[in-house]
Parts: sequence; C-alpha cells; structure tokens
Amino acid sequence: MRLIFVCQECSIRYLPPVGLRYGNGTAASVVWCAECQAEMAARGVEESPALAALAMIAAVRALKDALTRRTEAAAPLPDRRPSQPPRTSRGRIRPNSGRTRLH
Ligand SMILES: [Zn+2]
Repeated sequence: MRLIFVCQECSIRYLPPVGLRYGNGTAASVVWCAECQAEMAARGVEESPALAALAMIAAVRALKDALTRRTEAAAPLPDRRPSQPPRTSRGRIRPNSGRTRLH
C-alpha cells in the first residue's frame, strides 16, 4: 500500500514515487506535487518540516480510513438468526416428567 498525498498548493491528490525519489534521483515532496514542488523550488520556497509531518499524518489517516471502509464492506452481514427461544423452566424443574412419558 502506498500513501496518497494532497498537494498543499493546488490540492491535487498525487502518488509520490516509491522511496520518495523520482527517477532522476531528486527527492519527492510529501507537501507538494511534482509541478508545485518545481515551482516552489524556482521561487526558493523550502518545504516546512512541520507541514511535511502533517501531510504524512493526513496521508496515513486517509489510508487507514480507506482500509477500514474496505474491511467493513468485505465483512459478512451480521448474524440474523433468531435468538434461542426462551426456555421454559418446566424441563429443568421436573426432569422426571419427560422420562416417564417415554416409558
Ligand atoms: Zn500541486
């Protein structure tokens, strides 16, 4: 399972590469998508560690929510069998009455 992040600049959902490294070896961001990351780098804006931590927490939470929804959807329906009928105290109090009827 890979984490999906929401770009803090353009709000797009994006899937960073495995290990947060692009094919050319540059680091991917958990805060910005590739386009916004490039734009921020051009502007000289650095990724805030606090924002990165929040983005990571949000992505993990989103994954957990998605897994929970999937587990709930796959779960079998609750047992709808009727509960046992209430037992009458007759058999317990007078066990011999049943036996005598069999003889
Ligand atoms: Zn973006």
